[in-house]
Amino acid sequence: MRILRTIAEVREAVTHARRAGKRVGFVPTMGAFHEGHLSLMREARAHNDLVVVSLFVNPTQFAPNEDLSTYPRDEARDTENAEQEGVDIFFAPAPAEVYPDGFATTIHVAGLTDVLDGASRGAHHFDGVATVVTKLFGIVRPDVAYFGQKDAQQVLVVRRVVRDLDLDVRIVACPIVREADGLAMSSRNVYLDADARQQATALNRALDAAQALHDGGERDADRILRAANTVLEHAGITPEYLELRDADTLEPVADATRDTLLAVAAHVGAARLIDNHVLKASS
Ligand code: AMP
Repeated sequence: MRILRTIAEVREAVTHARRAGKRVGFVPTMGAFHEGHLSLMREARAHNDLVVVSLFVNPTQFAPNEDLSTYPRDEARDTENAEQEGVDIFFAPAPAEVYPDGFATTIHVAGLTDVLDGASRGAHHFDGVATVVTKLFGIVRPDVAYFGQKDAQQVLVVRRVVRDLDLDVRIVACPIVREADGLAMSSRNVYLDADARQQATALNRALDAAQALHDGGERDADRILRAANTVLEHAGITPEYLELRDADTLEPVADATRDTLLAVAAHVGAARLIDNHVLKASS
């Protein structure tokens, strides 16, 4: 595995591979790898000739009051893990390589980013995500890029950028990887002390309760949300949001008759956590 720091080096390596007819798979990350990240790398490894992983804790997607300075970082461990997964190129640029003096462009996706995490964290968040992902696509020029369904809204935003800007990359969304007790894996789970770690299991239990109601035939949004909310209340969690929205457009829904995204965000202990289930129309 090659560890590269500059855009020029990545371009050269990828151009070389492409000329040899290789298919390029790409996994953008902010590091502090867990099984969720590794599952994306495995998927990329299984379907591509050249696998590129980026590690960049993107400052522009953090608000001033968020955890940029304390975000977990362990590049040495990350490179070991990536190597074990058979990654070919590990791109870990410095902030100045990505945002040189004079950088002035922002990609803003209207509509989709006004709700859920866009509303909670502010518009800068998805502007930062859309801009850095577009830039990384321009640097790596992958055939396929892999994202986690854990960040469901991010997947929709990235798909929209690709469609609207005619970027020549296929987006693959991979399933949420969970701990044995159901907690969605997240780099931010390290912020949880023992009590908060236990409390955090309520997020997926709440989604499970709603899912069970839906599986039993319930389609009324209020009743589905109430089932989830009850579990959160019992655990002493007040969600930042708990919402049912159309899984493609993120429009609010009164009933879950189409594929519906049930999404939750909450502060638990020192961590802000998100999770979601897609309630399938066919189930
Ligand atoms: P991050 O490093 O948090 O920006 O995440 C990098 C990629 O890993 C994103 O596409 C995330 O959606 C994905 N990811 C994070 N957590 C999980 C998880 N528990 N299961 C699947 N994918 C995940």
